[in-house]
Amino acid sequence: MKMQLTEVAGAVGAKNEISDEPVDISSVSFDSRQLTTGSLFVPIVAENDGHDYIQSAIDNGATATLWDVNHQETMPMKIPVILVDDTLKAYQDLAKYYLNKINPKVVAVTGSNGKTTTKDMITEILSQQYNVCKTEANFNNHLGVPMTLLSIEPNTEIVVVEMGMDHPGELDFLSRIAQPDVAVITMIGEAHIEFFGTRDKIADAKMEIVNGLKEDGLLVYNADEPLLRERVATIKQRSFGFGHGESSDLSVSNVVGNQVMTSFKVREMPDVNFTIPMIGTYNVDNAMAAISVGRHYRVSPDNIVKALSDFDLTKNRTEWLKGHLGEAILSDVYNSNPTAAKAVIKAFSNSDVEGNRIVVLGDMLELGDQSSDMHLSLADSFDNQKIQSVYLYGDQIDSLATSLKSKYDDKHIHYYRLDQKEAMTQDLLEARTKNDAILIKGSHGVHLETVLSDLQSH
Ligand code: ATP
Ligand code: MG
Repeated sequence: MKMQLTEVAGAVGAKNEISDEPVDISSVSFDSRQLTTGSLFVPIVAENDGHDYIQSAIDNGATATLWDVNHQETMPMKIPVILVDDTLKAYQDLAKYYLNKINPKVVAVTGSNGKTTTKDMITEILSQQYNVCKTEANFNNHLGVPMTLLSIEPNTEIVVVEMGMDHPGELDFLSRIAQPDVAVITMIGEAHIEFFGTRDKIADAKMEIVNGLKEDGLLVYNADEPLLRERVATIKQRSFGFGHGESSDLSVSNVVGNQVMTSFKVREMPDVNFTIPMIGTYNVDNAMAAISVGRHYRVSPDNIVKALSDFDLTKNRTEWLKGHLGEAILSDVYNSNPTAAKAVIKAFSNSDVEGNRIVVLGDMLELGDQSSDMHLSLADSFDNQKIQSVYLYGDQIDSLATSLKSKYDDKHIHYYRLDQKEAMTQDLLEARTKNDAILIKGSHGVHLETVLSDLQSH
C-alpha cells in the first residue's frame, strides 16, 4: 500500500494536527508482532489493550500509530501519533477509505457453513483471469474484514471477503464497510441458533449482507433454501440462484462421488464436466456458488473447471487421512452442526471400504435449548448396513445415543461423556482394523483432533 500519513489522518478524522512532512505508510496492522518498517500501528482495545504493546510495535519498525484520545498520558514520543476517539472505528474507517481509493470489485461471502471453502473456490476461479486478493484463513469479523480490505494491492482487481456473524446487525455493518458488487449466501443452517432462536431469524440476519450491496450489485444465493427464495424476491438488486432444483438460475445435475473427489454437471453448461477434489454434496453447493460468481465475471468454462479441479482445501476441513494401521480416516474435527454432520455422514456412508465404517461423532455446540432435538435429528442419517459402529462423545449427544439403540446392538453403539475421552480412544484403538474407514466429526470445542492424532500415532 502507498498512503501518506496526512491522508490517513483525514480518513480517520484525526483529533490532532498532523505535520505535512511526508511520511509513507506501506501497511496497517493491529498486531505489534506483524509490523515492519513503514507500518501504521493500530492499538485495539479487546481482551488486551493494544496500547500496552506500543514499544514492541516501535521495535518492529512502526512508522506511526493511531492512539486513543483518552490514553494520551501514555502516548509515545518517538513516532508520529494520530489521535482518534476510537481506534477500532478508525481502523474500520481507514479500511473503507482505502478500499474506495483502490476501488476493486468486491465479492462478499456469507452463509452458515461453507464460507471459507466458497471464498477460496471463488478466489481460485477469479484468479485465472484477474488479480485477486482474499480473506486470509478465516478472518471474517469486525477486525478481519477491515484487515482484508487493507491488504488490497494497488493492482488488485477483485477482493473476495468472507463475512461471518453471530448476532443481528453484524453483517449489516460489515457489508456497509465493504459495499460489495457481488454478495454470496452459501446456505442457511443452524449455526448460532442458540442466539437466534429460529432459522427464519438466521435467514434475516444473513440477508443483511444485501444492505451494503451496491444498487447495481448481484446477490448469489442458495435457491434450494425456501427462506432465502422468499426474502430474495423483495430485494432491489439483481439476484442469481444456484441449487439442485431445475428452476435455479444455475442448477446442478449428475453428482457422482468417490472416496476422494466429486464430479457433477451443470444443466446450463451441458458440455462441461466439473470435478472437485473433495467429497460431500455440500461442497458441490459451494462450487456452484463459486461457478455463479465466475460466470458473472466472465471467467471461461475451461478456466473454471481448471480452478476447481486444482482446488486445495484449507487445512483442517474434511480430509481423508491414514491411521497408524493404514485405516482410512475422514477427518472433520474443525466444526460441526446438524446440516454439516448429516452431509458428511451421507458422503461417508457411500465411501468405498473393505472393512467396517465407523463414525465418531462429538457434541455439536451452540445449539441452545434445541440442542437435544438437533442431535436427535441425526438419527435418520445412520443406516446400520452402511455404518457398522458408532462412537458418540459429549454431554449433549446422549439423546442421539439413546435413539440409535433401536438400530444398533449394544456392541456397536458406544456413548462417552466429555470426561471419558481417554476411554473412548482406547476402545477405538482396540476396535479398528486396517480395513476400516473412520469418520471423525465434532465441534471444535470438544477437540476430537486428539482422537485423530492418537489413531494416527498408535
Ligand atoms: P466458519 O463459520 O467457521 O468460518 P465456514 O462457513 O467458513 O465456517 P467452511 O470452513 O468452509 O465453513 O466449512 C466448515 C465445515 O462446514 C466443513 O468442514 C463442512 O463440514 C461444513 N460445510 C461446508 N460447506 C457446507 C455447506 N454448503 N453446507 C453444509 N455444510 C457445509
Ligand atoms: Mg470460515
